[in-house]
Amino acid sequence: MREESLLGRIAEPGELVDYIESQDYGEVHLKFHKPTGLRAIVAIHSTKLGPALGGCRCIPYDNLQSAIKDAVRLGRGMSYKAAIAGLPLGGGKMTIIRPKAIKDRQAFFEQVGEFIDDLGGRYITSIDSGTQVSDMDIIATRTSYVAGTTQQQGDPSPHTAMGIYYGIKTAVQFHLDKSSLENVHVAIQGVGNVGYHLAKKLREEGAQLTVSDINDQLAQNIGCELGAEVISPEAICSTHCDVFSPCALGAVINSRSLSKLHCKIIAGSANNQLSSSEIGALLQGKNILYAPDFVINAGGLIYAATRYPDLELDYNASEKIAQIQNVLLNIFTESKKNKQPTNVIAKEMAAIRLR
Ligand code: NAD
Repeated sequence: MREESLLGRIAEPGELVDYIESQDYGEVHLKFHKPTGLRAIVAIHSTKLGPALGGCRCIPYDNLQSAIKDAVRLGRGMSYKAAIAGLPLGGGKMTIIRPKAIKDRQAFFEQVGEFIDDLGGRYITSIDSGTQVSDMDIIATRTSYVAGTTQQQGDPSPHTAMGIYYGIKTAVQFHLDKSSLENVHVAIQGVGNVGYHLAKKLREEGAQLTVSDINDQLAQNIGCELGAEVISPEAICSTHCDVFSPCALGAVINSRSLSKLHCKIIAGSANNQLSSSEIGALLQGKNILYAPDFVINAGGLIYAATRYPDLELDYNASEKIAQIQNVLLNIFTESKKNKQPTNVIAKEMAAIRLR
């Protein structure tokens, strides 16, 4: 059964367990703490190459099952991301069902820290959607398994954006035969932390920008600051452009949006951009070059790993992030040679390292 349809129809707890097993999982942990309203999940996909480093996402999920599914999907992506970036890390993710109001943020994230500490270092957390450096500081009062505190100069977003920029440059050179981004039209969906830094860098390189965000004021401000065209969230997927850059949430490229695309390249930061892996072949059929998400968005993970002292990594984060270009070029070249979708090639490359 296709992943998209399986995900869409999970209703029973038994089916959820089947889904977790189908994703090759050994460990999924839950913590409920009534006094603070914490309902959290840690999904550890793999610790084969090292401890599982992955962000802590705190968003208003519809229910527990959605939060578990998200952690499971994202944690597996983190394993692939670390493996293909050549990091000594496994893959995992934490999701938190954000309550309507977090009454006491200090107590809430202290509980998160205790949860992580109980896992004994198999999972290391960092920032993701809905969490901030100050939350990492609170977590650090209860556990050392955290990357991204104020002391560690925590925000990974500019580094993720840098990796996306390198990825866009590589894709434009490979697919459009252009060595510069001058006048290349990039449509960015979501101008939050990553999208904003990316837009700034692209503008410096002379790219033409279209941006959109469900936070209209944010989009308008960035439009003004960078001279970008601002369009509605509904219109961004179908923009006629060279590069569509999803920098908001996952599953943006799906059976519904596919026919609306008018881009030549898809290259953005969002995790799990394809609603199912079969979409990769359909993109290839439309001659749209897809930069696999877990390859192009590894910049933040590479940076976070260097900020985590226990790993004692001997590389420079900026140089390692620049290497995303070489990894993508290998994938694009293999894909063209073997007529296989880029997402399939990338997963195979990562899976070989995980075996
Ligand atoms: P963010 O929350 O700061 O920004 C996301 C932006 O997308 C927000 O401004 C939000 O309003 C907007 N948005 C949400 N839904 C939208 C929609 N339908 N249309 C248009 N805009 C929409 O998050 P971020 O840190 O910038 O991360 C962006 C994406 O990249 C996320 O999927 C995240 O998981 C992924 N990612 C981030 C990093 C990182 O270092 N921050 C690393 C790897 C992957």
